[in-house]
Amino acid sequence: MSQDQSMANAFVPGKAVLSPTDEALLKRRTRALGPAYRLFYEEPFHPVRGEGVWLYDQEGNAYLDAYNNVACVGHCHPRVVEAMAAQASLLTTHTRYLQNNIVDFAEDLLSSFPGELSQIMFTCTGSEANDLALRIAQVKTKGTGIIVTENAYHGVTLAAAAMSPSLGAGAPKNENIFKIPAPTGRKEVDEAEIFRANVEKALDEMAARGIRPAALFIDTIFSSDGIFSHPKGFLKPAVEAIRAAGGLFVADEVQPGFARTGEEMWGFARHGVVPDMVSMGKPMGNGYPVAALVIRPDVIADFGNQTRYFNTFGGNTTAIATATAVWSIIREEGLLQKTLQIGKAFRAELEGVAKGSDVICDIRGSGLFIGVQITGEDPRARTSRLVNGLKKKRILISASGPDGDVLKIRPPLVFDARALDFFMTGFDEVLKDI
Ligand code: PMP
Repeated sequence: MSQDQSMANAFVPGKAVLSPTDEALLKRRTRALGPAYRLFYEEPFHPVRGEGVWLYDQEGNAYLDAYNNVACVGHCHPRVVEAMAAQASLLTTHTRYLQNNIVDFAEDLLSSFPGELSQIMFTCTGSEANDLALRIAQVKTKGTGIIVTENAYHGVTLAAAAMSPSLGAGAPKNENIFKIPAPTGRKEVDEAEIFRANVEKALDEMAARGIRPAALFIDTIFSSDGIFSHPKGFLKPAVEAIRAAGGLFVADEVQPGFARTGEEMWGFARHGVVPDMVSMGKPMGNGYPVAALVIRPDVIADFGNQTRYFNTFGGNTTAIATATAVWSIIREEGLLQKTLQIGKAFRAELEGVAKGSDVICDIRGSGLFIGVQITGEDPRARTSRLVNGLKKKRILISASGPDGDVLKIRPPLVFDARALDFFMTGFDEVLKDI
């Protein structure tokens, strides 16, 4: 697989004719930013403005953003922008001074977690939160072995990238990482039992190689493995297995957290488990870089005694003011409940379309995280045609899964009935042409 094929929906140079100005920009971009970046879509998208669920190009054309989970309360939400600007114009400083807002926010956010998870540390990115979780897990367990799913993504640091098999051959080698298959997505099998058995097999391999377990890291909606949401609770036996072996369970909530699944504020809660640590990021600042790790006090105690933690920008005053505004909006606008309702309506519409189609064989997900499994002779190519076809209809989504054959639909949580209507009209048309 070439490096571009390793990411579903990556732009492949030369495949589409770009406008002269975009072509020139692309050339300068490649020259200045180098070879490691990827763009989305056959014809790259060039937005200049965002509002709510809509992104606008230079000509003022509106595109429905059905993909961006960062702008969870909607692009450029005025209250978020105002809170960010107000704090930035007053004071931006770090966690080595006493500040009210970080403590107020920490207490407020922690109240949405089970009581055991009562401490929080701030970072700038989800990668840093996972990297920190790994360091803490190693100190707590005195182990180094990590279990992740086969197409997981956990971030960009050396440690987090090694825990990200979805990077393909580019993932740094690390003999402490043990990969297990993602959930099967098949309704007729015992998903919980299969997943537990896979964790135990990895634990046996670790033992055989003399490696002590540190943690099982799971993105609780399996965003890059292909989106596996059901049956609820299927993670529980696997979590029990890692704990029985002396390891910890880290829930990576960078994607499923902050009301995304509609059913619970945090994805792990759908599985009836209480993690030892929870990482979060992306939607937390609606675009401002702010992320965090929530921890059980007994898990962090040794780490805190052995070392200090200071992250220059993590938890800075403006980051916290921004995150506070996002967190207030999620609750005041009832986004958990709204996400549940519109997510249900969305899947019902998709199921209606799927009935008469030989293109879709499964619809998975919860709330506004939806995976549509594409079938046929070359599902990857079909998925790509659908994603690019939708882009032509001014609807933005992408693809997921190791084979790039799952439509990944994950709009801002303020996605409403009008947006759904726009989406389904475009989707029907694209599906007919496929
Ligand atoms: N974990 C998951 C599940 C993610 O999706 C991502 C980002 N795509 C990360 C971790 C890393 O977050 P960041 O890009 O903020 O470092």
